[in-house]
Formats: sequence, C-alpha cells, structure tokens
Amino acid sequence: MVVGTEGRICEQCIPGVYRMFRERQDLPADAVSENEPRKSNRRKPRSEQFNPRTIKAFLDQYVVGQDKAKQAMSVAVYNHYRRIGEISGQAKTAAVTPDIELDKSNMLLVGETGTGKTLLARTLARMLELPFCIADATALTEAGYVGEDVESILTRLLQAADYNVEAAQKGIVYLDEVDKISRKSDNPSITRDVSGEGVQQALLKMLEGTVVNVPPQGGRKHPDQKYIALDTRNILFICGGAFDGLDKIIARRVNKQAIGYRSGNDALATEVGASLLSQVSPVDLRHYGLIPELLGRLPVLVHLEPLDRESLLAILTQPKNALVRQYEHQFALEGMALEFSPEALEEIVTCALDLKLGARGLRSIMEAALGQAMFEWPGAENRPERLQVDRDFVRSRLQSAGLLIRKAS
Ligand code: ADP
Repeated sequence: MVVGTEGRICEQCIPGVYRMFRERQDLPADAVSENEPRKSNRRKPRSEQFNPRTIKAFLDQYVVGQDKAKQAMSVAVYNHYRRIGEISGQAKTAAVTPDIELDKSNMLLVGETGTGKTLLARTLARMLELPFCIADATALTEAGYVGEDVESILTRLLQAADYNVEAAQKGIVYLDEVDKISRKSDNPSITRDVSGEGVQQALLKMLEGTVVNVPPQGGRKHPDQKYIALDTRNILFICGGAFDGLDKIIARRVNKQAIGYRSGNDALATEVGASLLSQVSPVDLRHYGLIPELLGRLPVLVHLEPLDRESLLAILTQPKNALVRQYEHQFALEGMALEFSPEALEEIVTCALDLKLGARGLRSIMEAALGQAMFEWPGAENRPERLQVDRDFVRSRLQSAGLLIRKAS
C-alpha cells in the first residue's frame, strides 16, 4: 500500500487510476504499468525498414566518417540476418533456389587505435536484437596454458543472451586486439607459440562453425565442469586490431619507400600512411603473422581511416552523444551553461593530434580541461551562471596537466 495524506492505494490500483487520469487529462503515454510493457525502442529487423542503408544511417548517428567501413559492415550484418532467417524474403521473382546455403561473412577491421572499431561494433549492438559481446584476444592462450581458453569468448555471448542457447547461437561476437595473437615470426614455429599461432589455430573451428562445449562460468576448462554445447555456425565474428607497423609491410609489397617518411612533415606522413593502409590485403596480414587459414575465415576485410583534424572536431561536437554535449549536459544539471569557443575546440583537437591516441585522447583532454571546474562548482553558492571555455582557459589547464606538447604559435 502507498500511504498518502488522506488515504491509501494499492499497487494494483495505481496503474488503473493512472490510466483513468490519462484518458481524462491527456497525460504522457509512456509511464504506464508493468502490464502494459514499454515498447522497446530497438528496431525490429523487418524487411521493409531493415536494409544495409538503414543500418548505415543508424551508424551515421554515432560514428563520424569511416564510410567504407560502415558500408561493408552494414552489408555483412544484413547478410547475416538474412542468413539466419531473421528477415523475410523480398525476392520478387521465383528464381530463389531453396537449398543454397549462404556463407558466413565474418569481418576483420584494421585501423589505428581510437579510430572507432569498438564504437562501430558497439553501435551495431545497440540497434540489433541479437546477443552481442566484446572479447579481448590478448587474454587467450592455447588450451592447457595459463590464460583463458578460446571457449571463454562464447561464455560471454551466452551471458549476454541470458543463457538462452538458441539466441546465443545467432549472436555477434566482437573480438578485439587480434593483431596481438599474430605469429611471432613469419616462419612456421619450431617451438610452441601458445599465445599467438596456438590461439589462431584454436579459433579456426569456432569461426567456421562447429559445436563448442562452453564452460558456463568462463575461465579455463577442467574435467569436472558441466558444459553447454553451442553451435557456432550462425554466430557472426567481427575481429578488430590496430596492426601497428602494417604500413611498412604494405609499402614493401607495393614497392613504395615508407621507411623514413615519419621523420619529415607530420601531415604528409599521416597521409602516406593512410593511403598505404587503405591498400591492405590478406597477403599483408599473412606477413604480419595471421595464419592463412584464419584469414580465409574472415572474408570481409575492412580498413578504418586515421582521424584527421576535421573528423576529430566533428567527433567532439556532432554525434548524438558527442563529448561536448555530454559535458554541457553535466554542467546544465548543476544549473550552469557551458560554452566552448571555436578556438577552444581547435586547441583540444590540436592536443589530441599531438597525443596520437586518435579520438580516444579527446576524452582525457576534456577531463583535464574541465576537471577543476567540475570539482569547484557543483553545489557551490557562488557558482557562475555560465562558464566560458576559450583558448587560453584550455591551454592553461592542459599546461598544468602536462598535456600541452606544442608551444603557442
Ligand atoms: P578503437 O578503434 O581503438 O577500438 P574506439 O572505438 O574504442 O577505438 O574509440 C575510442 C573512443 O573514441 C570512442 O569511445 C568514441 O568516443 C571515440 N571515437 C573514435 N572514433 C570515432 C568516430 N569515428 N566517430 C565518433 N567517435 C569516435
């Protein structure tokens, strides 16, 4: 019972009374009872509104640039849905052969750190109704050695699916840092390479599709444990990695001089590096240390561009949950208006470019710039109504945080 000043009302009557008032007074329709569950705002993958273009349009709301990557991912995810029968057919002709099985299009994303690989995968998860998990390849080792067995990836997927095996079998896995499991040398190993090639070998069957015995609690397998059998034939794997130094391997292949270009003009070096990376092919990745069998199971190879000044500026201000908007909101909750001058944003971007952490650096720079204000003003009586953030403000804060590399011009 909820006790009021002049009466009481029970939990079952509250929704009924609310509905009565709503009908009379036009109250908002979203705060209703448990019997009338809120409509999920996730999109249902329906045939009319679910296509590669709508998937890309959704990604556009959160991820700046990277058009090629978004396009390739949208197509792969759409085909994945089609493959697992979550989209009703749209074919207008009768020429669809029923017994042709579509192959799985697992993906490999190649791009520097902080260019949005994880963000892309995470954003996809936002719009999909399939279970999704992010796993890290660096923790994995070949079975029997210290570290996690590859099956632990599927434990995470099972957990994301609330242990619903059928749902998990249609899920999506993002496997980060695959470059860290590359073979330690280009030649087949003489000694055992348990955290590199060994892991790649262990991943093969899982990526292609097999029934895996998954330990429900993760960690390493042991004989007394109960397992859940999971068929990975319909699980889509998206792998990502920074592949540091890959540009040199590509340069060698395309016969361009890459060595030494970093010493000169910074912008030129970035440009040369970017154009080299956009020519990445499975051959280069094999030289980097991925075994051909693994590459064969990752047929969609996607390259992410390094972020330039304009992209970083756009990332600061444009996406739905852009950093600037987040901080403005945070200050607004304290009753303060936060205002950035264009020069202040320029300065933040310059600092991010100097730090070479991609967009990941933006957050720490913003923290450094506004940390003091976020400590000082909440709840303070004399807090100003508006806080103007200009270039000098940013520079002085970054200076004291030790983040300012470039001298004032
Ligand atoms: P990585 O490529 O190393 O996986 P992340 O996807 O984790 O990088 O990016 C780190 C952070 O940088 C993200 O949380 C996001 O806020 C920001 N970011 C990176 N790239 C983009 C982008 N293209 N558009 C918008 N934000 C981005």
